[in-house]
Amino acid sequence: MGATAITNASIFDGTGAEPYGPAGILIEDQRITAVGAEVEIPEGAEVIDAAGAHVLPGLIDAHLHLFGIPGYDFISWAMESPMLHAIRSAIEVQEILGAGFTLIRDCGSDNSLQVKRAIEEGKVNGPRMRAVGRFIAETGGIPDLPFIRLEWMQGPEPPGFVRLADGVGEVAKAAREQIRGGATDIKMGVTGGIDPSFIRAESAWTGAEIEAAAHVAHNVGALLSCHSNTLIGESCIGMQRAIQAGADSIEHGYWIDDETLEMMATHGVTWNPNVGYLSRAVERADDLGLNPVYVERCRMALDSYADTLPRSRSIGVKRAIGSDFLGTPADPHGEEAYELEVQTRLGLSNMDALVTATRGNAEFFGIDDDFGTLEVGKVADLFILDGNPLDDVRILQERHRIKRVMVGGETRITRP
Ligand SMILES: [Zn+2]
Repeated sequence: MGATAITNASIFDGTGAEPYGPAGILIEDQRITAVGAEVEIPEGAEVIDAAGAHVLPGLIDAHLHLFGIPGYDFISWAMESPMLHAIRSAIEVQEILGAGFTLIRDCGSDNSLQVKRAIEEGKVNGPRMRAVGRFIAETGGIPDLPFIRLEWMQGPEPPGFVRLADGVGEVAKAAREQIRGGATDIKMGVTGGIDPSFIRAESAWTGAEIEAAAHVAHNVGALLSCHSNTLIGESCIGMQRAIQAGADSIEHGYWIDDETLEMMATHGVTWNPNVGYLSRAVERADDLGLNPVYVERCRMALDSYADTLPRSRSIGVKRAIGSDFLGTPADPHGEEAYELEVQTRLGLSNMDALVTATRGNAEFFGIDDDFGTLEVGKVADLFILDGNPLDDVRILQERHRIKRVMVGGETRITRP
């Protein structure tokens, strides 16, 4: 691939600095080889004039699910073939890429490892992917489907997106199955969920079971991400057990007490709250006929997050950003940037939200030497945006403003 130069742009580089420009970026062999006001353009380079636009590092969504779900009926969906889910997901990942996301992490799905592979083969036009494969749960824990017969649920590939495992040996085996299938991270549920069918203060995992998953994950450089939903005043014991057993992140954890936040800071555990899907459920509750108990718990989770955020900052807990969008009519894929809108509504500055969704998420994944900022030496994953997202992050959701998305310096999406 020859050299590519983007010229006349305002550059938001993801480091936390204010945008600067007019400036250019030179891309050679997939990487940024020059960036700034004075970029020498080699003869024969492709020149992209970005006058009036901003160039940003590709957005990273650290938590979503490629469910390939057509509606809001999770039971019918769970009974469908994962092949059908994969076909739907293969289309949805293109929507996500077209929204400026150049890296996503699937946090539990029955088809994401296959979709990830098809993207890597160049057969599907999607973002880079990390994926956990199936979500490991103990029998009866989140996200087991207790209304489905147990013998259908136990085994490597049951309905839904779970892999049930009980005891140290089975947990290790379940984690190894995901790694074998191409998972980059491992996911476990350590407390209940927002959905009323999953309300439980904490899971029944033993520390040794969580340690078994951490051992398998860390042996191959994967992260152990632990799902935990706690609302104001609820027990944080499940999270504490996970932190002590080697978890790398708490997913959700809407309300976290100070003692647990201190433990997270000490152990370097990242907090990856996901508030976009909660807010969408509240907004679209009537249209979708959602269970009022669920909707009320979503509201409580948003309040819980707003309570935890300032304390997490003063204690110095690392944060990531992920939408937890599933692709239902409440949270269609391609609209993941809504997460930034909700996080700014609940307390983050526009700059903080944008830096967390780029550099912060790259740091969380341990790939910040290559990704997350627009600096010399970094991989050229970026997008060109008509407008300044520091004025209003909501413009990231206006698809027509995203003029070009590049992955490794290759243009994958363009719009007039
Ligand atoms: Zn999730």
